[in-house]
Amino acid sequence: MARRKKLYEGKAKVLYEGPEPGTLVQYFKDDATAFNAEKKSVIEGKGVLNNRLSEFFMTGLGQIGVPTHFIKRLNMREQLVRQVEIVPLEVIVRNFAAGSMSKRLGLEEGTPLPRPIIEFSYKDDALGDPLVPEEYIIAFGWASQQDMDDIVALALRVNDFMSGVMHGVGIKLIDFKIEIGRVWDGDFMRLIVADEISPDSCRLWDVETGQKFDKDVFRHDLGNLADAYTEVAKRLGVLPTNVTHAAKPTLIN
Ligand code: UDP
Repeated sequence: MARRKKLYEGKAKVLYEGPEPGTLVQYFKDDATAFNAEKKSVIEGKGVLNNRLSEFFMTGLGQIGVPTHFIKRLNMREQLVRQVEIVPLEVIVRNFAAGSMSKRLGLEEGTPLPRPIIEFSYKDDALGDPLVPEEYIIAFGWASQQDMDDIVALALRVNDFMSGVMHGVGIKLIDFKIEIGRVWDGDFMRLIVADEISPDSCRLWDVETGQKFDKDVFRHDLGNLADAYTEVAKRLGVLPTNVTHAAKPTLIN
């Protein structure tokens, strides 16, 4: 088989040319990074879990009419997605204070916010993804005012869906990050949810105990990251609960 063309390699994923024009294959690596890649590790099984979890969330979003880049899962680590032009923004939605917001405002982690708050960072690793006001986004032409209205509407729908799904399995959605892509149908441009939705880019706390099931486990050495993600996957029914013991092969006479 001819070697596939690698188009892009990021911190947690690789993008290859897809089988049809306008498609890509998105491969999930086991690499974990935090603090703008200052902390790095390989977490065995993380890529497999995130591939499954992102499939689960993107499929659910599609079913309630939120457009995403997801087409289908191909195997344990790969999914087929629509090729998009990524809007160079990290769209962050917060329901409870945590992380950089807690630091900036001196708010205790977990403080409920009066309403979901959306903020934007400019995607640039060299600059450390700086927080930017909408004014910058419009002025520098990263997105138009109409795009921003559509992005906010998409982000709030994703938030309602994700919060509800997580609440159903006893998990609080503290905050998350999504990325948005542009696709063209003829001359008509649409914005869709792209990249991934997984515990790498969310904060997820147990409703009862406050236990963390997201990348903060890795950021702050709180335990085994793959175990945390496996717990999320099990609760959502994405993985069977007895995956640790594969059935032994039996002889057929
Ligand atoms: N986030 C992300 N990628 C980034 C920055 C943030 O996925 O490059 C996610 C992060 O996991 C959290 C949310 O966005 O769920 C808000 O992150 P925050 O601004 O608090 O930054 P952090 O504390 O993660 O540096």
